This record gives sequence, C-alpha cells and structure tokens, in this order.
Amino acid sequence: MATVAFIGLGNMGGPMAANLIKAGMTVTVFDLVPAAVEALTAQGALSAKTACGAAASADYVISMLPAGKHVQALYLGHGNSKGLLDIVPKNSVLIDCSTIDADTAQLVGVKAAQMGIEFMDAPVSGGTAGAAAGTLTFICGGSDTAYSKAQTVLTVMGANIFHAGAVGAGQIAKICNNMLLSVLMVGTSESLQLGIDNGLDPKVLSDIMKVSSGGNWTLDKYNPCPDVMAAVPSSNQYQGGFMVDLMVKDLGLSQQAALASNSSTPMGALARSLYVNHAKQGHGRLDFSSIFEQFAKQK
Ligand code: NAD
Repeated sequence: MATVAFIGLGNMGGPMAANLIKAGMTVTVFDLVPAAVEALTAQGALSAKTACGAAASADYVISMLPAGKHVQALYLGHGNSKGLLDIVPKNSVLIDCSTIDADTAQLVGVKAAQMGIEFMDAPVSGGTAGAAAGTLTFICGGSDTAYSKAQTVLTVMGANIFHAGAVGAGQIAKICNNMLLSVLMVGTSESLQLGIDNGLDPKVLSDIMKVSSGGNWTLDKYNPCPDVMAAVPSSNQYQGGFMVDLMVKDLGLSQQAALASNSSTPMGALARSLYVNHAKQGHGRLDFSSIFEQFAKQK
C-alpha cells in the first residue's frame, strides 16, 4: 500500500486525507494548526513535526495550502528552511492540490524536473462536500508519467480526473472554472432576491429555475438563500465551505491571467469587485455564497 505525506489539513485537506486513511494507506500528516493534525491522528494518521519530516520517505506527497507563497515555501524552502524538493525520495510523486497562480506551479515544476522529481499541479473542484465524499474533480497539469502514477491516490479522493496539459495547465483550467462559478453565484443571488422582493417563495423560484434555462450548479448544489437547501453553508450561517477570501484570491488570479493574455473578462472583473467589497465589509471568512447578503433587504 502507498505511503502518503499530506500537508495542509484545512476544510479541504482534512477530509481528503481522511479518505486516504479509510482506503488503507499509511498517511503522515502535517499542518501548522495542532488541532487539525489531532483530528487526523484520531482517524489513524501518523503525524510529523515538520512537513519535511512527513515527506522524508513518502511515495506520494499531497499539499492543500491556501496560496502560491505557501506552496513555493513548502517545495522550494524559505530562508534557512529546506524545501521538500531537497529531501523527498527521487521516485516520489509530488501533487499540489491548492488553487494557486500557474507561474508558481511552473516554477516548482521546473525545479522539480531539474532534480528528476515528478511534480504535478492538481487543483480540485467539488467543495468540502466533494472532499468528504471522495467525489472531487481533479484538474491535473504535469507529465504523462506523473499523471499516470498519481491515479493511485487521486482515484481514492475523486470521481473525475482530468489531464489539462503540462505543469500549470491545471491551475489555468481551475481559475477559468472558479471565475465562472463566481459569476453564477452572483447572478443566482440577485435573481433569487429579485423574486423574493416581488413576493415569490425562494424554494419555489429555485425549483422553477433549476429546470429552466437559468439552471446552474449553484441552484442544484449550493443555493445561496438560507433555508432553501439543507446541508449547505447558506443554511448554516454561511459557515464552512469555500471562504470569500479564497474566492477573492482566485478571482485575482483569473484577472492576472486575463491581463497577461490580453483576454476580455468583464464579468469576472465585476465579480471580483463585488467579492472584494464583501470581504472588506468583514465577511472574508464566510462561505462565498454569502454574497447573497449583498442583495438581501435590510431586516
Ligand atoms: P483552509 O484555510 O481551510 O486550509 C488550509 C490549511 O493549510 C490550514 O489548516 C492551514 O493551517 C494550513 N497551512 C497553511 N500554511 C501551511 C504550511 N506552511 N504548512 C502546513 N500547513 C499549512 O483552506 P481550504 O478551504 O482547505 O483550501 C485549501 C486550498 O484549496 C486553497 O488553495 C483553496 O483555494 C482550494 N479550494 C478550496 C475549496 C473549498 O471549497 N474550501 C474548493 C476547491 C479548492
């Protein structure tokens, strides 16, 4: 059975690591937050004092960190601290599942290739529910060899696994998806509130739109209006899920990519402005469906 080092045990990494343990793999975990580590050791994980300690003899290293600067420091080192590339076995496969800028993924990929180590970016879609259920979509960027070897662990955590291209391609596909998701979430929120303001029941309106031409993922799986759908963040004071701050980060990445490629993305630019404003009002740690509150009438 494969040995796995898992670094970053937050809303997504925690349940992803748990699924590897359930599949019988030997998983050594590391996170800066001790409580996150304890939650996994209680489920059968081994723990290490550092990320390098966790990865020293692993077949696979999986990271699930907030942003590019964390990923770069983890793999390439920071100050006097060694990076994972300095210590992992040469035949290990490194898989970063964080959503980060493609440039950082490519930087790590180039350094890894120079050292003869396989590195792949594999950002995910499917949210915390998908992470818990083992039904994530993985969008991979890397060599055919890395993609093939990674199936051993990715199939345990995901239901759909795509090879988008070389290192960095997974990140580009992921930010395209998240830009579209933000636009759908804002549009769904304003539409639901328009209906409510004009006397409609949001549950009835949601049922109508789901099977009409406005139907989309947010209506099917992640309704932003409280109490329309059970077991989603909007029905739990917008706790858990995918934080507004992380959506702001992803929309910044999509706008950076648009500038670099001279692409026109007016809807993405507007969605970023709305989410930045929402975060500035103190909602950065709420789930991103809380953008609905920007449209709701003051009680
Ligand atoms: P999170 O903030 O809940 O978890 C991040 C974890 O990384 C935290 O536990 C933190 O302590 C840990 N961490 C930070 N720096 C570290 C380091 N140097 N070493 C070890 N651990 C470190 O975030 P999340 O929601 O789990 O998201 C993680 C990544 O997945 C982000 O890039 C996000 O954009 C992406 N993502 C999130 C979702 C979602 O629905 N939450 C969906 C898809 C993709």
